[in-house]
Parts: sequence; C-alpha cells; structure tokens
Amino acid sequence: MGRCSRRDFLLRTSILATGCFIQPTPTRATTAGWSSSDPFSLGVASSPTPDGFVLWTRLAPTPLSSDPDAPGGVRPDRYSVRYEIATDPEMRKIVRRGEAIADGQLAYSVHLEVIGLRPARPYWYRFSCRDAESRVGRAMTLPGPNDGIDALRLGFVSCSNYEHGYFSAYRHLTDEGPDVALFLGDYIYEYIAKAPDKVRVHSDGVEATTLPLYRNRYAQYRLDDDLQRLHAEVPMLITWDDHEVQNDYADQWAETFDDPQTFLKRRAAAYQAFYEHMPIRPSRWTRQGPDLRIYDRFRFGRLAEISMLDGRQYRNREACYGPPRGGGHLVSDGSCPERLDPSRTMLGTDQEKWLYEGLAEGQARWNILAQDVLMTELRERNSVGEIQFWSDDWNGYPAARQRLMQQIHDCRVSNPVVFSGDIHSYWVNDLKLDYDRADAPVIATEFVGTSVSAHPPPYDRFARYAADNPHVRYFESRKRGYVTVDVEAERLTTKFRSVSDATIPDATVETLKSFIVQDGRPGANSI
Ligand code: FE
Ligand code: CA
Repeated sequence: MGRCSRRDFLLRTSILATGCFIQPTPTRATTAGWSSSDPFSLGVASSPTPDGFVLWTRLAPTPLSSDPDAPGGVRPDRYSVRYEIATDPEMRKIVRRGEAIADGQLAYSVHLEVIGLRPARPYWYRFSCRDAESRVGRAMTLPGPNDGIDALRLGFVSCSNYEHGYFSAYRHLTDEGPDVALFLGDYIYEYIAKAPDKVRVHSDGVEATTLPLYRNRYAQYRLDDDLQRLHAEVPMLITWDDHEVQNDYADQWAETFDDPQTFLKRRAAAYQAFYEHMPIRPSRWTRQGPDLRIYDRFRFGRLAEISMLDGRQYRNREACYGPPRGGGHLVSDGSCPERLDPSRTMLGTDQEKWLYEGLAEGQARWNILAQDVLMTELRERNSVGEIQFWSDDWNGYPAARQRLMQQIHDCRVSNPVVFSGDIHSYWVNDLKLDYDRADAPVIATEFVGTSVSAHPPPYDRFARYAADNPHVRYFESRKRGYVTVDVEAERLTTKFRSVSDATIPDATVETLKSFIVQDGRPGANSI
C-alpha cells in the first residue's frame, strides 16, 4: 500500500486511571441536603472510548445562575460526587463505584474517564451527591478494533437554535435507539434571534460572550427535556461549528474584527463552557491558553471508523476577509484569488496530518468523516451569471479539500463517507477530485443533515444552483430534523428524518428520503 502503511490502533491514553478521586467534601456542605432543588437538573451524558467511556454530569441546583461566583447556584468550591456503573438498567449489578470531583473552577462539572470494561456492550450509570441522585444514563464501550460486528446504528444532528424552535428532532432520534448520536456543530447559538422569529427565548437576553453567559446557554439547552433524554439514553460523539463561540469565526479571527487577543479570550471562555458541558476526556482539559483539542477517532470493530473533525479552531480566516465583510461571504475567482491559495487549510497542519495518517492506516470497512460544514464544491451563480463560492465552508478552502480527496484516492480508503452540518438543509453529494468533468470518478459520498430547529437557507435560490452542480444529488431545505444511519458490511443506509413543525413542542416525524451506499461503490442511490 506504499505510503499507506498500517500501525497498531491500540494506542490508549493511560493518563487517567479510573477517575476515582477522593476529595474532602467542604464542611459547609456535608450536613445539609439539597433541600428542594435538584443538583442534577442538567442530567447526565456519556461518550464511548476503546475500553470504557467518559461520563458527565454537572451540579447545578440553580442552573441559570446570574451570580458569576456561584455557577449553577453552587458554593463553595469542591464537591465529591459518587458514581455507580452497572450492567443492567435497574442498577442492580454494580460493577464499579467510586467518587469524582466537581470543581468550582469548572462549574461543578464532572468528567469521569472509566477504563478496563468489557468491549462492545452497554452499561448504565448514575451519580449521587449528598441526598440527591441523578437519573440513570446509558453508556457503551466500543468494540475491539478487530471485532467483527454486523451492524451499527448512528444518528447525526446539527444546528439546534433554542429560540427558533423545539427539539422534537432530538426526541424522535432518542426513540429510535441509535447506538451513538453524532453532534456536528451549532449545539448552542450564541446570538439572540430577532423578533418575530422566536418561539422561546435565550434566558440572558444578550449574546453570549463571557464564561457565565456561555454556561447559562448550555445549561438552558440541557434543561430541555428532549435534549436531556437524548444524552441520558444515547452516547454521543461531538464536534462543534461556529455558534458555540461566534458566527463564522475562524481560529482567532472574529466576524466582528475584534483584536485577535481579545477574541481569543472570548473563544477560551466559550471552549471552557463547551468542555464543562460535554463528556470530553478530562485529559483533554489542559487549562492552558485558548485551545481545546476535540478532534478524535472512534473505531467500531472492523465495520466502521468515525473521525470527528474540528473545522473551526485551526482554519485560516475566510478568504478576502476584511472590512466590511468578516466571516462568510460569496466570492468569485475574479475578485478573490486568495481563495485558491494552495497553502490554505481548513483543519490546520496537525489535524490534517493526523487525519491523513488515520486514513492511510485505517482498517475498517466504512470510513466516516463527521464534521461541521458543507464539503462538496457548490457553484452559486448570481443574478449576473457570475459563479461564486461561499467562503465559510470547504468552498473557501478548495486546496485543502483537494488534498483530502487526493489522500482518500491515493490510499484507496475503504468506503469513505462524509457527514456534515451547518447549512440547515439536507444534501446528498458526490465528492470528486474534479468537478469540471462529469465523468470524473466519485471519491466519496457526502450526506448533510438539516437543522434540528435553526432557520433554513432560501429553498428557491439553492434549488436554482442544481444546473451548475450535477454532483449534488439531492437538496431540501424546507424541513427540520436529523439523519439516521444504518451501517452494515454490504451497505450504508441513511434516512432523512423530518419533523412536522419545529415551532411546536410535540411535532411528529416521518422519513423524507432514504439513500444507500453499496460497499465498494462510492455515491448514493435513492431508495
Ligand atoms: Fe447552524
Ligand atoms: Ca454554522
């Protein structure tokens, strides 16, 4: 395989053992109970690892606290939280128990990395603190890298704007019982929607820019029953997009042209709040600077490998960025040659190298790249007939996209499939090395999920782009929802699941469209 050599995939971090830290509970906290308020109001969440998982909770008896010195309404600064892990949902057969620390520096969140469990099976868990007990959550361990598993059911979601709608998509996804849910970004929205678009309101009433405001945003979303139940019942893999920080930001570059040092302080606050609310390995929290590594790879036996990519933290700023246009905008080759600069990167040097190594050495039958923004080339012809490209998605980084496609091609990556979010619409795309030639081979298949609730782009305008983009096989922006994915050796089946109305709390769901990718044949077929 030339440069696509193999290597051992069993590289496990041994930085954290069981995560069972015993810390004296502050004396002030030992005697009293939580009285009427529930410290586990934000629920629980889990994320799988090779032989264990990360479990999450956060103590927040007053989840939407306005006191920055008492996040979640909690004082003083460290609590011991007990945990139990069982092999049954009734929590009768306990296999692990211990204590973890909820630290005020991290908003009393708990990140417990558990290792040494049996592979490829569910476990159940709960937390307790003083007289309060959390709900029971379900976790899972990944199969061993060479385990032959027959089937994997995934669901992927993106773009849940609380003010734009309710989270029925999360409820219906939970009801389908996927093994894992993939979050592809815009889990929160930092801004305040304009009237009359709101069906409910962000609690602080102002754009999130500081740590207390970002914390409240995550807390408010987690108070949503549909989202909280999804996390309790379905393990998650997660990446972010822009709205976890600011619309269309790129690394240190703000849409609003803030000084990069100033903006990085905001980014650091946003990343910390993200960490505090997600089941991310505690070893990832370095407490140094404005960075947080979230890209990661998850192997599901010989059947599938999922690479969760970070398309925001390391990218070049959008091409032809400069007043008055920060963030994404439509650019043409005539007016913006910078877009085509071969040195431009979407993932950054380190992540790109990590991804290419993983693709070169991957041994799974299906190789899924799950990431935030539209990857296919999309030619957007304007009213005077000029072709333009959106600078905030992969169309602003065509050389990086080309490198990725070339790597997939050269390494003969088995069944590459891309899942994307951000654009609030469903798409099925043929990813190619050459979009000018209709007969150029299809390198990979892209599925884009619509938003959970965030408002869509204009259908008529995008539908008109079809003539210039024959590699786009399907487009629909008028529906909100999610995507389920059934992975089997012979095929990968996606269902575009759409909710009846995201502006009501009890929307129903239906399958809008289904597609199959056959093993060994890139490109989707409608069924
Ligand atoms: Fe979005
Ligand atoms: Ca976005």
